[in-house]
Amino acid sequence: RSGSTVKEVAEALGVSAPEVIKKLMELGELATLTQTLSDEAIEVLADALGKRVEVIGAAEDETAEPEVEDDSEQLEPRPPVVTVMGHVDHGKTSLLDAIRKTDVAAREAGGITQHIGAYQVTVDGHRVTFIDTPGHEAFTALRARGAQVTDIAVIVVAADDGVMPQTLEAIDHARAAGVPIIVAVNKIDRENADPQRVRAELAAKNLTPVEWGGDTEFVDVSAKTGQGLDQLLETIVTLAELSELRANPNAPASGTVIESRLDTGRGPVATLLVQRGTLRLGDPIVAGTQAGRVRAMTDYRGERLKEAGPGTPVEVLGFDGVPEAGDRFRVVESEREARRLAQERAQRLKQEALARQMRRRVSLEDVLA
Ligand code: GDP
Ligand code: MG
Repeated sequence: RSGSTVKEVAEALGVSAPEVIKKLMELGELATLTQTLSDEAIEVLADALGKRVEVIGAAEDETAEPEVEDDSEQLEPRPPVVTVMGHVDHGKTSLLDAIRKTDVAAREAGGITQHIGAYQVTVDGHRVTFIDTPGHEAFTALRARGAQVTDIAVIVVAADDGVMPQTLEAIDHARAAGVPIIVAVNKIDRENADPQRVRAELAAKNLTPVEWGGDTEFVDVSAKTGQGLDQLLETIVTLAELSELRANPNAPASGTVIESRLDTGRGPVATLLVQRGTLRLGDPIVAGTQAGRVRAMTDYRGERLKEAGPGTPVEVLGFDGVPEAGDRFRVVESEREARRLAQERAQRLKQEALARQMRRRVSLEDVLA
């Protein structure tokens, strides 16, 4: 377990427990003798008491995902995960919708009735996963939380508008994530479309088109007429093959929460992207501070699944509460273990929040002093 109780900390610092509690109160925390303080909180507290501490042998974060290295012979090809980003109104949503409609299988299944935040299309027998969360805000939020889900970024630029501030932001995000970029020059059906200008503007930002001797693929498309979509999908598949994306399907599943919500009828609903292993019905699962068991699992078409391998987005029912987008999830031994880890995670987050709050008070006191 991480941290120490108020009583232990008081002993270690050589001050009385009431003194510690009083100080904590000044720092904005109503604490009890048996309350656990995180290492960070202890440092702030000691500082405020004019003592120096060195926290040694800091407790390991048991809730952190164990790091695993798969042997290369365990790895199998997996679908690429693609995010579409770009300036507002340049056609991200339209493009995602248009790509989705190219999926014959989905059309035959009676169309896509629900939005689960991700979908797949099949291109020449290769599956491609698209993250369909609204705008790149979602991607930013996921990234801010340290989640790395994307393999390829498609940056959409309207050919009649050119490079705009959020275009550059999107490029920065993709570069920070170390993700290769494909530029989709959209709205080429428009009369005033100038796809060459878009190329020139991006070449100036070090995204030089392959046809100009650079290494960034540009594809002219129209989400409206469907022109260029096949070429865009082929470009994605080619780039994915070059990247040799692989994962171990024969492991307990782990991955990232893409979207979540509370459904009035069905309870907590989460869209998960499986990134390693295979997720199965009945699996005990933990995501952030929420635990549960996979009670039902459907794909983006609403079809029930018994299992889902790496690169597959699924909608899952069976969490006790709503996990947050960006939370990592993983399958564990038992539901009991899942609950324990979820509780420990919640405790840890609370302690971290407390330490942050205390540090703010301390710095505020410095300012006022
Ligand atoms: P987003 O904000 O990037 O998601 O952009 P939207 O997909 O909502 O598109 C913004 C506007 O551009 C909408 O009115 C679309 O109908 C229009 N639009 C999107 N793609 C195209 C296209 O290829 N051609 C034309 N003419 N209009 C498009
Ligand atoms: Mg949109």
